[in-house]
Parts: sequence; C-alpha cells; structure tokens
Amino acid sequence: MTDLTRRLPASCWSVLDGELALEGVKVSEVAAAVGTPFYLYSTQRVRENYRGLAEALAPLGVSVHYAMKACANVAVVSILAAEGAGADIVSGGELTRALAGGIPAARVVFSGVGKTDAEIAQALKAGIHQINAESYEELWRIDRIAGELGLVADVALRVNPDVDADTHAKITTGKRDNKFGVDADRLGRLDNELKAMGNIRLVGLAVHIGSQILATKPFAEAYRRMAGLVRGLRERGHTIERLDLGGGFGIPYQNELAPTPSEIAATIRETVGDLGCALAVEPGRSIVADAGVLVTRVEFVKDGGEIRFAVVDAGMNDLMRPAMYDSHHDIVPVKLPESDIEYLAYDVVGPICESSDTFAKRRALPPLSAGDLVVLATAGAYGATMAGTYNARALVPEVLVDAGRFAVVRRRVSLEEQLGWEAMPAWVTR
Ligand SMILES: *Cc1c(COP(=O)(O)O)cnc(C)c1O
Repeated sequence: MTDLTRRLPASCWSVLDGELALEGVKVSEVAAAVGTPFYLYSTQRVRENYRGLAEALAPLGVSVHYAMKACANVAVVSILAAEGAGADIVSGGELTRALAGGIPAARVVFSGVGKTDAEIAQALKAGIHQINAESYEELWRIDRIAGELGLVADVALRVNPDVDADTHAKITTGKRDNKFGVDADRLGRLDNELKAMGNIRLVGLAVHIGSQILATKPFAEAYRRMAGLVRGLRERGHTIERLDLGGGFGIPYQNELAPTPSEIAATIRETVGDLGCALAVEPGRSIVADAGVLVTRVEFVKDGGEIRFAVVDAGMNDLMRPAMYDSHHDIVPVKLPESDIEYLAYDVVGPICESSDTFAKRRALPPLSAGDLVVLATAGAYGATMAGTYNARALVPEVLVDAGRFAVVRRRVSLEEQLGWEAMPAWVTR
C-alpha cells in the first residue's frame, strides 16, 4: 500500500494480483457484476468504527445514536443495530428506515427544525426514546399532538450554544444565526411555557454544533456551555436527566488530524462527566465515511490543451459533496501502478452538464486510460444518501462486502423504473 491508498483503511483493503480488494473481494469483480458507478461498503469497517467509539464511551455510560442521514441503507443500518446502536433521525422516512434496519424505537432520537404533524405523530405512536425540539413553536406542536394521541412526549430541548465549530459554513449548525435550536439566552421562557403544556415531559437538553469538526475545542466549549445550562435549569426546579451531545466528529479526507474516540471521551468526561445526566452522542460521518467508496470508470481521457480531463461515469448526482462543499476525495486507480511511474495532473470530472460536476482539479494521478476503474475514497457518508437522478440518470446502486462475499443492497434504479413513478394527465395528448 502506498500514499495513493492512504485513505483506504488497511484493516479491510488489500492488493490482490495488483488490484484493490475490499475484505478479499476484488473491486473489478464487483464492477463486472454490477456495472459502474456504484457505492461499495465494508461491513467490517462499519463495525470497527462503531466499536471504536462505543468502547471508548462505554465507561462514561454514553449511548450512541447513529445519525441515519450519513448512510441510511437498511443493510448498513442493520449492521449497527446488531452492534446495539440507537439512531438519530431527522425525518419520518428515517424512522421507517431505522425500524426496518432493526433499531428499536426505544433507542431512536428525532432531531430536525421542521418536523411535520404527521412525522411527530408517527414518532410518538412508534414510542421513540426522545424528540429533540428545536423551538418553542415546535414544543407547542408536540404538546398538541401528544394530547390528541393521549400520550406524554419525552422531549429534549435543542439549544443553540453560539459556538463556532470552525468547519464549512454549510455544515455549521451551532452559531446564533443558524436555524437550529433555541438560543441559550432564551431559556428563561421555558418555565412558564412548560407549565401550560400538559403533554410534554422535558427530560433534557440537546446540542449539535455542526459536522466534520476536527478540533476538540469547539466540542469542549459547547459541552461546557450545556453543563452550565443544565445546572441553571435544575436550580429553577427542572429535572434535567439527559444530555444529548450531538455528532459532528470529523474524519481525515486528506491528511487532517481528527479527534480520536479517546479524545472525544476525554472531552466529554471533562466537561459534562459529573452532571449525573444520561449522556448520548449522534455520530454519522465518523461511523461510515471511510467504510465506503464510490467506484467509477473512466470514459475518456480528454486532452483539453492546458488541462487533461479524466471524464468518469459517476456524476455530481451520484456524489454531491465536491460540488456542494468543495470537498476532497482521494482518487485511487483499482489497478495499482508500478511504484516508479510518473504521475500526471488530471481534472477528474463527471458527465453532468454543470461545471460544478468536478471531483478533483489538477490532481496528480498515475496515467489513466479509458476503461480504467477508479475509486473515490471516503465516500461512505453523505454519498448515497444525497444521490439523485439529475440529467435523467439511473439512481446509483450500493453494494455491501462482508468477508469475501458481496451483495447489492440497493439496486440501480433504471429510467424505465423511474418513468413508472410519473403519470400522464388525460389532457396531455401525444
Ligand atoms: C447530521 C446530524 C448529526 C450527525 O453529524 P455527523 O457530522 O455526520 O456526525 C448528528 N445530529 C444531528 C442533529 C444532525 O443533524
């Protein structure tokens, strides 16, 4: 393994006959069976990532609620369910997926700023562990729906701690001008409003300051602020017994240093360890990102004069992160090159009719030719879940590998199938 493969975890990747293999399965073998592009996930790596965090947090009694939106494939979710994970959901659809993957309702937490009446009713009827309310307006809505159902809802209030997570603006969620949570200095209203709500039990507070956070300092700052708020509310007579610390733990996409599970555990212990609260975290990215890659094939190497373009058959509709967040994904040819070969600079682009459909600019890579397979590394989180069908493309499939075998866990959704979702009104003549 070389610098090219630095982002392919050595615990599950190897080189067989000069080619990349995941858990003993050659990528080329899957490509021949499934076609390209497709997502490829490692069961073992999902487990390793989950266990690494869960074991570091176990002494603190912290429960782990996997953030479904990172990768919501039911097969992947069921690997985590078998490990004992709970789920953090942000929609009724994700509740359906969590339950389908075998995560018990009693281990589900529901976050999100815009929960509908129907979603809140669905969650309450299912008997989920907790709803994280993001506004007073939402508290009133939950109270009304719980009343209609004759239930009492266990609710945590998500607080916006006004902490800068020092991450990409589009995934910062804990600053005052973000739409998430209730401002920490507006908790004064809580006493009166709660008194008027008969169907809500305020069980705790929740916080989530953003995603892909690489330093422990923003977490420590937010958690410490939460500890102060918990103490303040208790002094005012509230029973605050749970504290949900959110997710956002960053991972290396290039050579960034990310917080380790033991550093995360230490941060939690030092800031909120003595509150006597039942603690929870909601990691998504750090569990699945490096457990998945996007496999794509080079269609053309286009000589663009100044720039050499490698046009691949995956597009921004399949992996949106580079277009949306300017994110970096390492690119690795499936047939590994001779070690002394000279690298060339490529712009690696998809076929979509937008210039944002670019996976890498001026990337130094071994020489590529039409027909070569490459993997985009670290694509297991916010990859397949964000995929769409822009440019009337088939929906990208997902394949799961486990110890020498593989299975398609979401098939490619063809255009014929997609046309079946549409209907022709009677007044349109053809
Ligand atoms: C997205 C999200 C998470 C997970 O974030 P990661 O960066 O993937 O760990 C956790 N909690 C909430 C409320 C979220 O919206």
